[in-house]
Amino acid sequence: MEIKEETTKKPNLNFIEEIIENDLNSGKHKSIITRFPPEPNGYLHIGHAKSICLNFGVAKKYGGRTNLRFDDTNPVKEDTEYVESIKEDIKWLGFNWAEEHYASDYFEQLYQWAVELIKKGLAYVDDQTLEEMRENRGTVQTPGKNSPYRDRSVEENLDLFQRMRAGEFPDGSKTLRAKIDMAHTNMHMRDPIMYRILHTHHHRTGDDWCIYPMYDYAHGESDSLENITHSICTLEFDIHRPLYDWFIQQLDIFPSHQYEFARLNLNYTVMSKRKLLQLVKENYVCGWDDPRMPTICGLRRRGYTPESIRNFCEDIGVAKRDNVIDYTRLENSLRDDLNKKAQRVMAVLDPIKVVIDNYPDTSEELEAVNNPEDETAGTRKVSFSKTIFIERDDFMENPPKKYFRMTVGQEVRLRYAYIVKCTGVEKDENGNITLIHCEYDPATRGGNTPDGRKVKGTIHWVDANNHIEAEVRLFDRLFQSESPDKVEEGQTFLDNLNPDSLKVLKNCKMEKFLANTKALDKYQFERLGYFSTDYDSTENNIIFNRACTLKDSWNK
Ligand code: ATP
Ligand code: MG
Repeated sequence: MEIKEETTKKPNLNFIEEIIENDLNSGKHKSIITRFPPEPNGYLHIGHAKSICLNFGVAKKYGGRTNLRFDDTNPVKEDTEYVESIKEDIKWLGFNWAEEHYASDYFEQLYQWAVELIKKGLAYVDDQTLEEMRENRGTVQTPGKNSPYRDRSVEENLDLFQRMRAGEFPDGSKTLRAKIDMAHTNMHMRDPIMYRILHTHHHRTGDDWCIYPMYDYAHGESDSLENITHSICTLEFDIHRPLYDWFIQQLDIFPSHQYEFARLNLNYTVMSKRKLLQLVKENYVCGWDDPRMPTICGLRRRGYTPESIRNFCEDIGVAKRDNVIDYTRLENSLRDDLNKKAQRVMAVLDPIKVVIDNYPDTSEELEAVNNPEDETAGTRKVSFSKTIFIERDDFMENPPKKYFRMTVGQEVRLRYAYIVKCTGVEKDENGNITLIHCEYDPATRGGNTPDGRKVKGTIHWVDANNHIEAEVRLFDRLFQSESPDKVEEGQTFLDNLNPDSLKVLKNCKMEKFLANTKALDKYQFERLGYFSTDYDSTENNIIFNRACTLKDSWNK
């Protein structure tokens, strides 16, 4: 008889998945629809990636769909450039949306619904200035005061609202407000503004409108129009939820529901689009895709893979309470991914020349492993000759104890090549080493020690007679402070910028293998880290970005 183990243990679900499973099991929804609703006022960052992975991820897992909806209700800051970049980044992350929408496509419907609310006596035109409205809003402890315009007749409201739309009134002179309760304990329910007058060109609707809906009015209604079942957003919106529900109930439309999760915060990083824009506009970085930026396009240029970002988002989970994630977790995710995938090569960033005096004047080809983590990656030939480059800091004249790299009289292994022993150095008049002399042992070809003698150190090298030169860009954290947003009085987050976040190395020496590299090709430079070819790289001016070091070097 076959014995089946009864297991009641569910696979680990996050709380959003639990809600969805319950809704599907109870029959509340036959299938689910989520949406990702970016405002096209900047490039996407790693925080958005978290939201994308969650929204697209749960829909995919439960056989549902995800819409992309541009939340373009604020014409002042929005632009088509951002729309295009957002689409590119989502696709690059590996997700496909079912439908593409724009909140601005719903402007007419939203207007008609506003008229409906006026007719029901649930909305009114207010002539108070923003200042007056703020004053009359009350505080958390004290109730607000009703607007003197609150009891306008339905007819008057309909007439004024129509004239607001027609452009009869200047910016800021009138608003449309929901008539709820000026004494409500939730401040967002104290007659919130639904429409404001803005005589501003919109990147999609042009000059069709001079009144624009507020986020709280537009968002839930847009969700409802698309039959979104689970409208997932970040925690700061939980206080908006009663209003989200109120509009949907009063209009009696498809009951979308909002669920909140903790936004992603990363240390040593700012994520507000306003601040990222400032870094770009004021040239603290070289663009939205500067490899130091936490933007998706910046991470891509840096060398991040879609998998590494998706794995990171999966790994950190979905929290209900705000927390700060350590930046090294993002880097570790990249290391794990590139360790499996990246072609290994040898490159010398800070070269010093070594001459192997007993080596013939010919050259030979040695076999090197392309990726020890992936047998199918195979091997390649690396050229070796009498003069090679090694890293300047792989040699020490007066080494401390347990120094296993190159020093006079000590044997060291040249990766894939031979065991060599340093016999002496040449110096210039200032005492700087200009050339290192070595002798090699022909019996150790491939790095073997046939007699079993112990050689502890292995260093990388590049053939000085057969190599390419390239530029390498090394990055450090963009901010020195763990929470760049926390500043003393009179300071801004800019005061926390790390002045040494970019280091450019020219004339680095590399294997010929890299001659035909293309933008975003990824490598492990042995012993140095993971590198990705930059967009600016050309055949004659090859440029690599260091994506990350081999190990976490920050926790030292
Ligand atoms: P910012 O504050 O950087 O301007 P935002 O929230 O205004 O960001 P939106 O374009 O409105 O940016 O965001 C689109 C979606 O991404 C929203 O659902 C938002 O909740 C989510 N999102 C934004 N930042 C984060 C974050 N740090 N972690 C998780 N989700 C985020
Ligand atoms: Mg927003």
